[in-house]
Amino acid sequence: MSKVIYGGQSYECGESSILDCLTAQGVPVPSSCRSGVCQTCMMRVVEGEVPEKAKAGLKPTLAAQNYFLACSCYPENDVEVVLPEAGLGKLEARVTSVEYLNGDILGIRLKPSRLFEYKAGQFINLFKDEITARCYSLASVPALDEELFLNVRKVPSGLVSGWVFSSLKVGDAITISEASGDCFYVPGNSEQDILLIATGSGLAPLYGIIRDALLSGHQGKLSLYHGSYNTDGFYLVEELRRLAQTHPNFNYVPCISEGEAKAGYAPGMVLDIALADNPDLSGWRVFLCGNPNMVNTAKQQTFFAGASMRDIFADPF
Ligand SMILES: Cc1cc2nc3c(=O)[nH]c(=O)nc-3n(C[C@H](O)[C@H](O)[C@H](O)COP(=O)(O)OP(=O)(O)OC[C@H]3O[C@@H](n4cnc5c(N)ncnc54)[C@H](O)[C@@H]3O)c2cc1C
Repeated sequence: MSKVIYGGQSYECGESSILDCLTAQGVPVPSSCRSGVCQTCMMRVVEGEVPEKAKAGLKPTLAAQNYFLACSCYPENDVEVVLPEAGLGKLEARVTSVEYLNGDILGIRLKPSRLFEYKAGQFINLFKDEITARCYSLASVPALDEELFLNVRKVPSGLVSGWVFSSLKVGDAITISEASGDCFYVPGNSEQDILLIATGSGLAPLYGIIRDALLSGHQGKLSLYHGSYNTDGFYLVEELRRLAQTHPNFNYVPCISEGEAKAGYAPGMVLDIALADNPDLSGWRVFLCGNPNMVNTAKQQTFFAGASMRDIFADPF
């Protein structure tokens, strides 16, 4: 049975990941998504070797320096590990505004304490305390917005979103991580059509991506479909309708899956509507964010409709 050595102590790992093994013993390893996406639980192996799978998704430069993700690491031999000195750096940010975007989603604006480089649509980790963090996508655009803009949905019994809704207020200083993730607009190929599908607060990264693409002078179609059960679930509607009026290549379709459809809203499931309107996605770029079931189904279906996997970007949450 493999052992993990951390901080001079040895721990039996058994069948569990290094993250589960250490946190079960009370070792405070920061973590967030626990599924190999957010990179919050990155560690470094200083003795022994970890399986290659534990490095999936890391930049080659980090993998080459023996960094790995503790949540995806099931060691086959004894290893000694440390928390990274580097990795996604942390910094302080000040809360500059908190507003309800709809009944379930708060818009939070943050002013980072130092130069903060990011791309619209990437995510940051928001720390509730030293070891509890969750990912939130950036709806802001560096060249347009002075502050970072997050859209946080209230999750029933959610640790971090619950704290955001009950406690976060203007003036608070909080800890965030540097930005990460590959769900963002890359300039170039400006004639390419782009399909964007979201549910709930999955709109956050897409709101950033659309404004970034328009700012970059994107010429191809930008078609956004936002799904909700009813009209209460939408937000940023006026802003998106205004963008659609001023940019003929941008099309915004809010989709209602239950109840009566109203003027200005499409009736049905967001993915069905998006695919019925755009049945041939050969050559398209696709962004999918929000409910994991919708995102995973949409990944398959947009691929079957012709989009190349290389051109499909998804953040399920
Ligand atoms: C890349 C990425 C980007 C994201 N961007 C956004 C964004 O822009 N906006 C946004 O709102 N969210 C976003 N998320 C989701 C966000 O990171 C959090 O997962 C979400 O806010 C819930 O966190 P929480 O701490 O409030 O809930 P948690 O405490 O993690 O709980 C989540 C749910 O699991 C249940 N649960 C927790 N523990 C247990 C247990 N032991 N047994 C059974 N059930 C349990 C809770 O009741 C709750 O329903 C993103 C996620 C990722 C990975």
